[in-house]
Amino acid sequence: MKQTGRKIVKLASYAYSRWIDAAADAQPVASAIDGATVALASSSDVDFAAVAQHARQRGLPALRRLTFQGRAGLLKKLAQHLSDHKAALYDLSFQTGATKRDSAIDIDGGIGTLFAYAGLGRRELPDSNILLDGPLLPLSRQGSFVGRHIETPLDGIAIHVNAYNFPCWGMLEKLAPALLAGVPCIVKPATQTAYLTAAMVRLIVDSGLLPEGVLQLICGRLGDLLDHVTGQDLVSFTGSLETSLVLRNHPAVARNATRFVAERDSLNAAILGTDVAPGSPEFDIFIREVAREMTVKAGQKCTAVRRILVPAATIDAVSGALAEKLSRVVVGDPRVEGVTMGPLVGLDQREDVRRRIEALRAEADLVLGDIDNPAVKGADAARGGYLPPILLRARDPKQAAALHQVEAFGPVATLVAYDDVTDAVALSRRGEGSLVATAVTRDPEVAAELAFGLASYHGRLHLIDRDSAGESTGHGSPLPGLVHGGPGRAGGGEELGGIRGVHHYLQRTAVQGSPALLTRLAGHWNKGAPEVAENIHPFRRGFEALALGETIHTRPRTVTLADIEHFAHFTGDTFYAHMDEAAAKANPFFPGRVAHGYLILSFAAGLFVEPAPGPVLANYGLDSLRFLKPVSPDDTIAVRLTVKQKSPRNADYGEVRWDVEVTNQNGETVATYELLTLNALTERAA
Ligand code: NDP
Repeated sequence: MKQTGRKIVKLASYAYSRWIDAAADAQPVASAIDGATVALASSSDVDFAAVAQHARQRGLPALRRLTFQGRAGLLKKLAQHLSDHKAALYDLSFQTGATKRDSAIDIDGGIGTLFAYAGLGRRELPDSNILLDGPLLPLSRQGSFVGRHIETPLDGIAIHVNAYNFPCWGMLEKLAPALLAGVPCIVKPATQTAYLTAAMVRLIVDSGLLPEGVLQLICGRLGDLLDHVTGQDLVSFTGSLETSLVLRNHPAVARNATRFVAERDSLNAAILGTDVAPGSPEFDIFIREVAREMTVKAGQKCTAVRRILVPAATIDAVSGALAEKLSRVVVGDPRVEGVTMGPLVGLDQREDVRRRIEALRAEADLVLGDIDNPAVKGADAARGGYLPPILLRARDPKQAAALHQVEAFGPVATLVAYDDVTDAVALSRRGEGSLVATAVTRDPEVAAELAFGLASYHGRLHLIDRDSAGESTGHGSPLPGLVHGGPGRAGGGEELGGIRGVHHYLQRTAVQGSPALLTRLAGHWNKGAPEVAENIHPFRRGFEALALGETIHTRPRTVTLADIEHFAHFTGDTFYAHMDEAAAKANPFFPGRVAHGYLILSFAAGLFVEPAPGPVLANYGLDSLRFLKPVSPDDTIAVRLTVKQKSPRNADYGEVRWDVEVTNQNGETVATYELLTLNALTERAA
C-alpha cells in the first residue's frame, strides 16, 4: 500500500462514552484516489458486551425520558450543528472517491434527512411516548369495553451495519427514525470509508447534544456484538446479499426473533415507454436520467440503473445516444477541475466489478468503455479504483441469467431490448425484487400497465415525462418521506417513508378495556369515557388548563325553513334538496327539504363558540366529518363539545382536537366531527 506525507488517522471507536483507539492489529484503509493509507482501523480493543450494556443502561433511559416531540427537537439541534460544521467533511470525502456532487448527496443529503425527520416528528407525533394506531374499536353492546392499537418504543437498542458507499447519509438515514422512536444506536460503518463516518460522529459527540449511550461507533469488525441482542433490539443492514445472510442467520438474532431490516443487491431498471420516439423530450429525458444514474458515485449506489429496458425498435437509437453522452464523462481524481466521475472505492472493488462485467459479457456485447485501460484525468489508473462508464447490450435478454442476477457495483449497465409492455414487465421482474424502477413515458395507459406490473416487485416507482422531469428528484434519490427498500433480492426491508420509518422501532400492541382507562393511557378521549364539567367555558381556558374529556352541552336551537332559505340565498347553495320539496322527497335519503350540512356546522359553531377574545387563536380545520341524519325544518339541534386530544406545537400554542356531536330533539346524532383549534399556552383573557 502506497504511503504519502499525508497524516494517517488511527480510527477510534466511540464506545461506552470513550474514544477507544484502533488496536495494535489495525488494518490500513486506502484512499480511493491513489491507494495511499488514510486511516488504520481495528475494533479489537472494544468490549462489545459493554457497548450493548452502555446503550441499554445509559442511552435507552435518557431517550425514554423524552417524548416523541422532545426527541424531534433533539434531531433538529443535531441537524443544525452538523450543518454548521459540515465543511470539514467535504475535504475528507474526496478520499472515498466522491466528487463534490457525490459528497453533497452524502453529506447534505444526510443532514437534510435529519432535518426532515425533525419536522415530521414535530408535525406528526405526539408529546408522549405512546402513538395511536387506528381508531377506537367498540367491542361491546353497551360501549363499556373497547379496544385500540397503540405503539410504544422498543425497550432495546439498534445496531446499524452500513455500506461503504454513503458514509454519512447511510448513518443518518437510519439514525434519524431510530432516535425519533427513542432507541439508542450502535453504528458500524463499512471499514473502507469509516474515517468519514467517524469524523461526523466526532462532530456529533463534540456537540454534547446527545445524552450518553445514545450513539456509539464501531470502526472495524463487529466482534461478538450480535451475541448480545435481545427480542427488543433491531439490526439494520445495508450491503451484500452474502453478509445479510450471515447476519440474519446469526443464532442470537434468529433465536430472539430480533427485528432485522436488510437492504442489499438490486438490479434496478430504467424503462423507456413504447410510446417514446427518438427526438422527443421523453427520449432525451431517458438518456439524461440513465447516464446520470450510471455515473453518480461511480455507480456505487444501491439505486443505480443496472438494466436499461428499451423497445426493440428504439434500441439502436438509445444505444447511440447513451454511448455519446457517456463518452463525455471525465473520469479522474475528484479534486481535479473538469472531472465528473471519481474512482470506485478501491482496487479490490474495481476487481470485483471487472469480474462481474466478465460474467455479464458472457451474455452481452460491449457498447462502450475501456475496461482494462481507462483514460484517467489527474491520477494514476493503477493506484485508484478508476473505471469508465461501461455500457453493455444483452444478446438475448430472455435467455440471459447473469443480466438479472449479477450486480456490478460500479458505472455499469446493460441495454435490454423488449417487445411490448408485457415483455418489459416480465423482464424487470426477473430481477426478483428491486429498490426502484424508472419508466419514462407520456402515455398514462403505458404508465398504469407498467406500474401495476412492477409495483409488487419494487419499493419505489419513478414515472416521468416532460411535465415532471424538470422538477423530478431523480431515479436514484431516496427521499425521507418516501419508502426506500425493496422486496426479494433487494432485502425485503423498508427504510424512510416518513413516519413509517419510525414504526420499525416501535411495538404495536392491542389494548382492551373501558373507555375511561383507555382515555388516560392513550391521551385520547372517546365517547363513552367520563365527561369533565368545568364552571368556565373551555374557550376561556388556556391550553394547559384544559382537561381531556372537558365538555360543554349547548342550549338547543330550532332550524326553520326560513333559516334554510336564507342560508341558501346567502351562500348561493340552492341545491334542490334544500329548496325543492318534490325533488327532495324523490331522493331516497331525504324525507323532504332538509338543512344544508354546512348550515348545521355553522349553527353548531354559533352554539358552542364563546365569542370574546381569549386563548383560542384559530380554527385549524375539521377531521372525520359525517352527516348521519338529515335535519328537517323545525328540527331542534344541540351540540356536545369535548376536549379529545391536546398536542403542544411550540412555546406559544398547542393544537386542541375537539370531539363534536350534533344531536336532534330525539337525541339522535345528526353530525359528528373533530374540530381542530390552535390555543395559546397561557391564558390570554379573563
Ligand atoms: P459487505 O456486505 O461486505 O459489507 C457491508 C457491511 O457489512 C460493512 O459494514 C461490513 O463491514 C459489514 N460486514 C461484512 N461482513 C460482516 C460480518 N461477517 N459480520 C458483520 N459485519 C460484516 O458489502 P460491501 O460494502 O463490501 O459491498 C459488497 C457488494 O455489496 C457490493 O459490490 C455490492 O454488490 C453490494 N452492495 C449493495 C448495496 C446496496 O444497497 N444495494 C450497498 C453496498 C454494497 P467491513 O467493511 O468492516 O467488512
